[in-house]
Amino acid sequence: MSRLEENLRAVRARIDAAARAAGRDPAEVALLAVSKTWPAADVRALAALGQRDFGENRVQELLGKAGELAEVELRWHFVGQLQRNKAAAVARTGAVVQSVDRAPLVATLDRAGQEAGRPVGVLVQVDLGGPEGTIGARGGASPAEVPALADAVAGAAGLRLRGLMAVAPRDEEPGPAFARLAAVAERVRADHPEAVEISAGMSGDLEAAVAAGATLVRVGTALFGARPLPCGEFEEHQPRESQQ
Ligand SMILES: *Cc1c(COP(=O)(O)O)cnc(C)c1O
Repeated sequence: MSRLEENLRAVRARIDAAARAAGRDPAEVALLAVSKTWPAADVRALAALGQRDFGENRVQELLGKAGELAEVELRWHFVGQLQRNKAAAVARTGAVVQSVDRAPLVATLDRAGQEAGRPVGVLVQVDLGGPEGTIGARGGASPAEVPALADAVAGAAGLRLRGLMAVAPRDEEPGPAFARLAAVAERVRADHPEAVEISAGMSGDLEAAVAAGATLVRVGTALFGARPLPCGEFEEHQPRESQQ
C-alpha cells in the first residue's frame, strides 16, 4: 500500500470513528483533501484511490492544478482569501468558494458566476475569533454578519449558498469554537434550508469538528505529509514550483 493510500485510510478511519462516537452516520461527513503546495501528481494519485474533493488556498495554484487535471473528474474548492480581481478566474474552474466573507466579494462573484454560465457554490466563512488583536487574521465574517451575507448569497443568481466554513482559533479548545459555528449554521439553515454544509476541522482537530456537526473536513497534512515549507499564519509562502 502506498503512503498516500495508508494516510487516506487512516484519515477516513478517524472521521468514521468520530462520527460514530457522536452518534452520526459516517456517510454524512465528506473529506476534502487540501492539496496546497503538493504537485498535481499527488492529486492524481489520491484521485485514483477514489478521492474526489480537493482544496487550494491560492488562486494560481488552483488554476494550475485544475488545468493540468482537467480530464480527471474532481471537485475543486477554494479555501483561501479571495481578492475580487481573481473571482472570475476561480468561477471559471467551477470551484466551490468556501471563503466568502464580505458583501463586495458576493457581488463580484455573483457577476463572475453569471458570466461563467454556471452558478458558483458558496460557503460563507465565519470568523470564530482568535488571539487578542488577530481577529480576522484567518479571514471570515463575524458571526453577527453571517446571516445577512448568507441572505445576499442566496439571493444572487450567479451563486448557490451551500453552507458555512470556519477555521478554529489557535488560542482556544476547538470544541466550543465549533459549537459556536454550529449555532450560526443552525440560524442560517432556518432561513436557507439548502445551506447544509458545515466545513470545519483539519488534521489536528477533525474529531472535534465532526462531534460538532461538520459535514466536510479539510485535511492536508494528515494526507500528504508536512508541507515542504514552514507555514506561517495560513501559507503566505509561494507554492513549490515558484521557489526555484
Ligand atoms: C491548509 C488548510 C487546511 C488543512 O490544514 P492541515 O492542518 O494541513 O490539515 C484546512 N483549511 C484551510 C483553510 C487551510 O488553509
